[in-house]
This record gives sequence, C-alpha cells and structure tokens, in this order.
Amino acid sequence: MSKFFSCSSCSGSGTLKCPDCVCQSCRETGATDVACAACRAGRVTCELCRGGGQVLVKKGIFSDKYEVCGRCGGSRTVKCTSCGGKTTVRQTCSACSGRSRRSACQHCAGTGKYSCTTCKGAGKLIGEWFKSLQTMSTDQLKFEHGKRERQIASVQQENHLAQLKANQYTQQAEEMWRYAEPLYRQGAEAGSVADGSDLLGYARQLQNEIYNRNAKIEEIQSEVASIEEVLNAKWARP
Ligand SMILES: [Zn+2]
Ligand SMILES: [Zn+2]
Ligand SMILES: [Zn+2]
Ligand SMILES: [Zn+2]
Ligand SMILES: [Zn+2]
Repeated sequence: MSKFFSCSSCSGSGTLKCPDCVCQSCRETGATDVACAACRAGRVTCELCRGGGQVLVKKGIFSDKYEVCGRCGGSRTVKCTSCGGKTTVRQTCSACSGRSRRSACQHCAGTGKYSCTTCKGAGKLIGEWFKSLQTMSTDQLKFEHGKRERQIASVQQENHLAQLKANQYTQQAEEMWRYAEPLYRQGAEAGSVADGSDLLGYARQLQNEIYNRNAKIEEIQSEVASIEEVLNAKWARP
C-alpha cells in the first residue's frame, strides 16, 4: 500500500485536455492546406524554353537550329517547386494563428489544457489505506508499525540465507567447471560432464528471488514511512 495512487481522470499527468476550444479549421494541427498560388495544377511554365518546348542551339544564316528543351523535355512545363507538384501548400491556420486552439476559450484561456479537477493538478490522490491510518489510535498505529518492522526483518533474514546459498552454489559451480573445462577441451561432448551449469542456474534463480524480496521490502518500508508520518502528526498536535 502506498500513500498515493495515480489519478485515473488525468492518467497521473495532473492536466486534462480541454475539449471546448479545438480549432476545427485545422483540426488542432495549426496549419491548413491552401491552393498553391504559384502554379496551375502543380506545373509551371518552363523557364529555360519560356514555354516553347525548344531551345535555340545555333543561329544560322538561312535558318536557326533548335533542339528539344533539356529541362522540360519539350512538354513546356515543369513541376512547381513551391508545392512540389501537389497543388496545395501548408500554411499557418488563419483561424487560430497556428495555435491549434481558440484563444477566447473560457475554460483554458486557449492553452488547450487545464488542471485536473479530480486531483487538483497533483496527478495523484491519497489512497484509502493512508486515510484509514489517520483514523487509527496511536496504539493501533504503533502495532501496525511494529508488525511491518518484524516483517522487514524476517524478509531480510530470508534474503541473507538465500544469498549464502547462492554463493555456495556459485563456488561449487566454479570448482566443477575447473574439472570439466579440460575434458571439454579434449573433445568431451557438451553436457556429458558435470560442469556446474545447473548449479549456476539455481544461483541465478535465488538471486531473482532476492531481487523480488528486496522490492517487497521497499514496499513495506514505504508503508512504515507513511505510518510514521501519521504518528508524527499526532504527536505534533497538542
Ligand atoms: Zn522547357
Ligand atoms: Zn505549386
Ligand atoms: Zn487552426
Ligand atoms: Zn479550452
Ligand atoms: Zn488528476
């Protein structure tokens, strides 16, 4: 049990998204697609041939020599560089000046967010367990405190024993490996020699259990801290 639990209304963030002022013109993206003013249907007149499709390569006495324009391939137009041929360009939304929200919103003043009303912006709420502590007598609190201290001591003892065992397994595994390694090098098949790998597996398992019990200890310690907080508050009061 911890003192707080995460506020579900705001998923612990402390803020809520304002539903009232989303700019509908840009669907909250701050930008809109407008028709490209630089082109027609995504294409512009080729600058190199000025839309003729051909370029003069040699001026002759009787006739000039032309070749197909190398830039537009004779098609007279090239893709518009302003819109990349898409015919529209992204432009800052004029309805919200790119802010994605209407600034006149009474609810959030256009910020798009407001403080969560459930948790008053804290993102967390005091849990029922902590509230129940506050209704307990000093004796009850002391009892709950002592119970947890004993619990912590007993889990720590379990961890101590598990650690001794894990060390023992690791040491045995090392000895077995010293014996097995030369045999492997001489060509013994993997797994045919007792090499201590099963013992290392047990040791790892024990370490895992120790890790989990440490997490349990931390949880109980946070409960103890909560109980002490309530006890101290009681003593501070006249
Ligand atoms: Zn051209
Ligand atoms: Zn264009
Ligand atoms: Zn907008
Ligand atoms: Zn709003
Ligand atoms: Zn909240």
